[in-house]
Amino acid sequence: MAEERLVENFHSETAAARRIPESLVLWDETLRDGEQMPGVHFSPEEKLRIAELLSEIGVGVINAGIPVVSAEEAEAVHRVAHAGLSAKILAAARTVPADVDAVIRSGATHIAIFVAASHVHLKYKLRMSQAEVHAAALVTVRQAKDAGLHVAFVTEDTVRAPFDFVERLYRDVQDAGADRLVVADTVGIMTPLTFRWYLEEFEKRVHPKDLSVHCHNDFGLATANTLTAVECGARAPQVCVNGLGERAGNASLEEVVLCLESLYGSSTGIRTDRIHELSRLVEETAGVPIAANKALVGYNAFSHEAGIHTHGILAHTLTYEPLQPEVVGRRRQMILGKHTGKSAIVEKLKERGLTATDPLLLELLGRVKHDTEVRSKVDLRRFLHEYRALFERPGLSDDEFWTMVEAVGIRPGKS
Ligand code: MN
Repeated sequence: MAEERLVENFHSETAAARRIPESLVLWDETLRDGEQMPGVHFSPEEKLRIAELLSEIGVGVINAGIPVVSAEEAEAVHRVAHAGLSAKILAAARTVPADVDAVIRSGATHIAIFVAASHVHLKYKLRMSQAEVHAAALVTVRQAKDAGLHVAFVTEDTVRAPFDFVERLYRDVQDAGADRLVVADTVGIMTPLTFRWYLEEFEKRVHPKDLSVHCHNDFGLATANTLTAVECGARAPQVCVNGLGERAGNASLEEVVLCLESLYGSSTGIRTDRIHELSRLVEETAGVPIAANKALVGYNAFSHEAGIHTHGILAHTLTYEPLQPEVVGRRRQMILGKHTGKSAIVEKLKERGLTATDPLLLELLGRVKHDTEVRSKVDLRRFLHEYRALFERPGLSDDEFWTMVEAVGIRPGKS
């Protein structure tokens, strides 16, 4: 009899599967883009602890932050860079020589040099011409190469920029020594189909030696788009633990890794059995709770309540679980509640070596259903209201801000 498999009808010879790079390098952005999430802040100690676990788990590149942001940030990057981790430590810089100097001083071996590329960003944000952006990019890429750094070149909003400009810019920075090129979907507007078109065009026009992508989740497509990019040959996909990041976040580390490992059959080199531990550490440190139904790391991701489902799971876990929970360091939970069926009760009784006649089983089942149906939701609602109050307005409150304004002496008609 054939062995039961998760993926039937899977053709490893599909065009997509053939192009997946063999030596994937996971590039984690939790400590940079993840930290830029509203209300999130990591101390140097916290960055170090997260970086250590990321490295132990097998992440290839860790973006530790932007040293020029503050003295504390420079210290954090310095500590991560000198911690003797096996992951490569990267720090980020604008196309400004002082930024690159700060990365060189931090001791990071890798740098990501970034500048905006799209019309709206150049005109309204940077107030720079394409020629000025081009010149600044070349100067700073050469500066970083001269200092012996591994250089990734990133444009913000790559996919909304004029393609002719992108082509010229990326070809020239690659000629100037950039080791890795990053295409960013900064506002998350790509779909798997449009991104495939974009990256195939990019490949034809730019011939990147080494490609990375940075995908945002504004429409919930970050993971799908990142996987599309890997199918198109991107070797160093960027991810954030728990999908943290600006606005709706970035492609989540756990989703990208488990899709590649379990659905594509690729090897990411990641210790997936420690993903739960990593996810909880970042949840706790960032103070951003994981959604109950979040793929792989959400509280419900391996929980079963409905009668038909628990019956199936008890017969064979593959019926309703695409992945054994142990693969990501978790355990299956059988929830007793309104939707529970008889088989879950029978199974639960076995824990104490008990069996029961049908009438007693039905009596017990009725009580389980009734009890959870009438259970009070007061505690849950109170918690939810506190949670909302915290998350609807992270950062300083208005009161705190206006008190500060007074404290520094800003008054009407003065200052
Ligand atoms: Mn970003």
